[in-house]
Amino acid sequence: MLDPTLDAITVDGVSKRFGSLQALNDVSFGIHQGEFFGLLGPNGAGKSTLINAIAGLLRVDSGKLSILGNDVRSDFRAARQNLGVVPQELVMDPFFTVRETLQFQSGYFGIRNNDKWIDELLDQLNLADKADTNMRRLSGGMKRRVLIAQALVHRPPVIVLDEPTAGVDVDLRQSMWRFIRRLHAEGHTIVLTTHYLEEAEELCDRIAIIDSGEIIALETKQDLLDLGLGSKLLIRATRDIETVPLELQGKVVRCEAKDLELSFHRENDSIMEILDRLRAASIQIDYVSVVNDSLQDVFLRMTAKQGGS
Ligand code: ADP
Ligand code: MG
Repeated sequence: MLDPTLDAITVDGVSKRFGSLQALNDVSFGIHQGEFFGLLGPNGAGKSTLINAIAGLLRVDSGKLSILGNDVRSDFRAARQNLGVVPQELVMDPFFTVRETLQFQSGYFGIRNNDKWIDELLDQLNLADKADTNMRRLSGGMKRRVLIAQALVHRPPVIVLDEPTAGVDVDLRQSMWRFIRRLHAEGHTIVLTTHYLEEAEELCDRIAIIDSGEIIALETKQDLLDLGLGSKLLIRATRDIETVPLELQGKVVRCEAKDLELSFHRENDSIMEILDRLRAASIQIDYVSVVNDSLQDVFLRMTAKQGGS
């Protein structure tokens, strides 16, 4: 039985340098059991470095990592048994067939007679008709699916996917997510890195944003969206808008005939005050709506602020 008080993944003060580059700088956080957790960050932020460290594939300079309480170095076997990792890079032996690859991986975990589960994986990932095809003859998207099957062959409770949908077509993305969602619903902890922000926005419960090797935000998705950073106010007037009051002109994003779009900051601006000013300028308001920032907006603003680029 799993201990419900244990985190699925614990990262405690982890640092890693590559020469003069600080790829991870004192990173600490925990991922709870059963979470769908997103790790977001621009290219080169340190996502794959962190995932490789979690997988025990990379030696860190300092800090500790554990999977369900098992240290990835001192309890490597137990940690590995609890973890399935889908790496970003497509590395595999080109001479095996798909089924052989999965059987080989089962053997690595000491599992015999795994064919029932292997068949189910092949089926769920739409690979059944490729079971006897050599790996070298598969397209990139197919190989990606085999990597996912490979990570799941030992039914690990914790599943980490490093950009699993990079370069994958829309259909495959949809079927992949259906399957991952099912695994999550069945109690698996899912950790995902992606640069498709709409994907994280749709799937993840909590999201960490990493930039230049540091965690710059870790919030529930809703808190991240609610950080009060900004929204858009869409206004439709009864008659054409002739002039926007001077004090609001700095907020105008768009003003066309009857439509006015203003950016506003929820902590600093009051919608009521903005509307009062518009009315005072004889603009007759027909309709008002507020559109919150997307995760993409939040993400871009945060990483731009930190990275200075
Ligand atoms: P991400 O996955 O977020 O795009 P990575 O973790 O792959 O970023 O890389 C973080 C930084 O570390 C990058 O600047 C990358 O060039 C560097 N890096 C990653 N692996 C190595 C390595 N084996 N040797 C030297 N530099 C590396
Ligand atoms: Mg990466």
